[in-house]
Amino acid sequence: METEKRLQIYLKEIEKNNQKGKKINAILQINPNSEKEAKEIDKKLEKGKAGKLAGKIIAVKANINVKNLQASCASLTLKDYISGYDASVIEKIKKEDGLIIGITNMDEFACGSSGETSAFSPCKNPACLDLIPGGSSSGSAAAVAAGFCDLALGSDTGGSIRNPASHCGVIGVKPSYGLVSRYGLIDLSMSLDQIGVFSKNIDDAVLLLNVIKGKDEKDATSFESKEIRLEKLNKITIGIPKINIQDSRINKLIDDKVNEIAKKNNWELVDIKLEHVNLGVQTYYPICYVEFFSGTRKFDGRRFGKKIEESCGEEVLRRILGGSEISKAEFKGLYYRRALKAKNIIKKEFEDAFKDVDVIIMPTVPRLPHKLNSKISVEEMYGYDVLTVLANLAEIPAISVPAGKIDNVPVGLQVLAPRFSESLMLSVAEQFSETK
Ligand code: GLN
Repeated sequence: METEKRLQIYLKEIEKNNQKGKKINAILQINPNSEKEAKEIDKKLEKGKAGKLAGKIIAVKANINVKNLQASCASLTLKDYISGYDASVIEKIKKEDGLIIGITNMDEFACGSSGETSAFSPCKNPACLDLIPGGSSSGSAAAVAAGFCDLALGSDTGGSIRNPASHCGVIGVKPSYGLVSRYGLIDLSMSLDQIGVFSKNIDDAVLLLNVIKGKDEKDATSFESKEIRLEKLNKITIGIPKINIQDSRINKLIDDKVNEIAKKNNWELVDIKLEHVNLGVQTYYPICYVEFFSGTRKFDGRRFGKKIEESCGEEVLRRILGGSEISKAEFKGLYYRRALKAKNIIKKEFEDAFKDVDVIIMPTVPRLPHKLNSKISVEEMYGYDVLTVLANLAEIPAISVPAGKIDNVPVGLQVLAPRFSESLMLSVAEQFSETK
């Protein structure tokens, strides 16, 4: 179908259920030029000159700069901020004729796991409307799940793509650190942040990742990498770590699913031990706080928006104050350097594990999502991240794919692979998504 027709279908669905109807609130802004841009893409398609993404409709998280659209980070601090340039990923998408339909809701400055810290009201989980969609890329996951777009971009610092993907029942990919340029992403924690994708199927995820990946002169940590291809997998070995999680029904569901798929594919399953996974959250947060504090110093009200401390919500303020405290000279060796040491231990632990197994599979989130606006403690909120922060700390790729449902709520499983083994990871994940 032509791009314009497909766009109209999505725009109608947004009109019906974003602010009205189900009031999902996944989209904060619609691209006012989308119809004109769709027509241009269709003209190229007619001439046989269109790029790889022609016909695909893509939504973008509000912390990624898209020229002339809002990059508010769902914060009052940047409420009126309009991007003056395209992030490198957006440049690449436009070059391949992907169509940006709009900007998605999120936790403020990507701080959160529920979508509830957005200054513009949380977004709902399209799969179960009274529950949180997960976060921080809540609107991107919800937009794909609600049928507002084909694909969406999110960012994942400690799970922000995989967590909402799991809760909303869609696919979410966090690439290896450095696979995708971060230029134009408003950072949460620059040594952990990665831009990644949400999709309904693996083929679309592969397509978009291949477009956005690659070395970028504007991001020194980015790398060139081989084209991602789905491979036919021969006998592979899957590592299953023993991890106690809050909701044992999730372990059971995922165990059953993994056994079923492994049997069908003749994969070998081996139990593995990851000694330091319980240190993930304590390692992640000090790094995140310090880097966030440092990254937000530019929001002093002079160049962009308002002064952040005077306009942000509680969670953002907690991280700024916490980050400023532990950045003080007297604490430096105590928290930040220690956390970096622990990060290396976790990284090494995964490198060692991958000497014996090809990929590792575990749940994405240790519990089911809570009811929207039911106050939970900070510790409980950070507890959502225990299984997702690991891939960011280890700098490896991880994907969440739907594994089934508990009480009608989607539950995802995570496939983790060695650094830059996206092809292997997606090929394994494909076997799960086929049986959805
Ligand atoms: N939930 C984690 C946090 O609040 C992860 C967020 C993210 O990946 N952006 O920091």
